[in-house]
Amino acid sequence: MILMIQQKYILERPLRLMDDIWDAIIIGGGPAGSTVARYAAKGGAKILVIDRRKEIGNPLQCGELVPTNEELRRLCPDVPNINELFQTPKEAISRRTNEMNLVTPSGKRLVYPFKGQILYRPIHDQKLVEVAKKNGAQYLTESRVNDISENTVFLKNGDKLNAKIIVGCGGPHDPLRKKFWTENSLNIAVNFVIMEGDFENIVELYFGSTAPGGYAWMIPKKGGANIGIGIQTRFSKGKSLNTMAQDFFQRFKGKITYKGGGVLPMSGSIRNFTKGNYMLVGDSAGMVLPSNGAGITTAMIGGRIAGQVIAEHIESKVALSEYQKRWNLQMGKVMKYSKRGMAWGGMMFRSPDSLINASFNRLTKPIIWRAITCKPMFGLF
Ligand SMILES: Cc1cc2nc3c(=O)[nH]c(=O)nc-3n(C[C@H](O)[C@H](O)[C@H](O)COP(=O)(O)OP(=O)(O)OC[C@H]3O[C@@H](n4cnc5c(N)ncnc54)[C@H](O)[C@@H]3O)c2cc1C
Repeated sequence: MILMIQQKYILERPLRLMDDIWDAIIIGGGPAGSTVARYAAKGGAKILVIDRRKEIGNPLQCGELVPTNEELRRLCPDVPNINELFQTPKEAISRRTNEMNLVTPSGKRLVYPFKGQILYRPIHDQKLVEVAKKNGAQYLTESRVNDISENTVFLKNGDKLNAKIIVGCGGPHDPLRKKFWTENSLNIAVNFVIMEGDFENIVELYFGSTAPGGYAWMIPKKGGANIGIGIQTRFSKGKSLNTMAQDFFQRFKGKITYKGGGVLPMSGSIRNFTKGNYMLVGDSAGMVLPSNGAGITTAMIGGRIAGQVIAEHIESKVALSEYQKRWNLQMGKVMKYSKRGMAWGGMMFRSPDSLINASFNRLTKPIIWRAITCKPMFGLF
């Protein structure tokens, strides 16, 4: 009898997903999608998250560094209730660090205090899925969204699903963004490895000809490090990302246990996050801070706002455009200064190494840090 009920449930479940009209379908269950789902479902909306992956967060595509909540309050002072949003469980944290070094091509270091936590990113993303599910969101995994038209989402397997609102949280190649937005973003290709070994507990960022038009990193983990590099090939004098990555990885001693790659959108937030009943959140909306490559926390900040606005829209017809207004209040200044920092840094990091070596000094040290941490560079505007 129990078996029959179970079989009936398994047979009926996909049909129910398809017959329902969801308040919102979210494409992608990463930090952006699962956070939208968490808050929209918490506010009473009927939410379905669709992800192409079997296990969200896997395979790893990340440097895994995020600021602690304390650091984040300093970096994003207009974002309210940081502790409510970021409840990273212990098992998702590999290591904590208190220092970041910026390293020039000659090996000169600028040393800064920085409170960061290095994640086990797959566990981190799985925990976000759990929280969203606890709040009532449903997930459909191993399902790729191929197309969207009006209120319908089309899956690769031929299924069609309907929703009042469709949210693109599919990262830099999100299908909703691709089809309905014309704005281009600068996407930087990134290679990284996980290396076993002994690494000092300091986050290192490398600039100049080590990573032309981008930067490279060594982020210490428990028992090893996450080491990566992102470049713009138009500045690399014919050298491929793979070649530059090999050169960079060889500087460190240890055993490579994992190789990964991906794409970082580095032009900052796009002009419009919403179009009719469509919304973009996270990488699809360009929420990565271009001056430092941080995208996990910003995707979650955007995700909370979008989720709350979806719930209010369903409950009391609050306009979806309210999402971008609230984002601007919370993150507008940070994004503006980050874009400015990137424009300045972009110019600087394409300069000859000799200039970079010379311009990283005691006098410029605070200015460089302000640019990277998205503050007005000269403390005024
Ligand atoms: C190599 C690398 C290193 C990085 N390091 C850091 C770092 O150290 N710190 C930091 O803060 N940020 C880092 N980032 C950026 C960060 O990973 C992203 O900003 C963040 O993941 C954005 O979250 P998201 O939910 O918008 O997108 P994602 O995390 O990319 O999630 C998108 C989800 O959508 C799904 N999806 C995509 N297309 C479809 C489709 N058609 N149908 C169904 N599902 C789909 C994917 O499977 C995925 O689960 C790094 C990025 C890269 C590539």
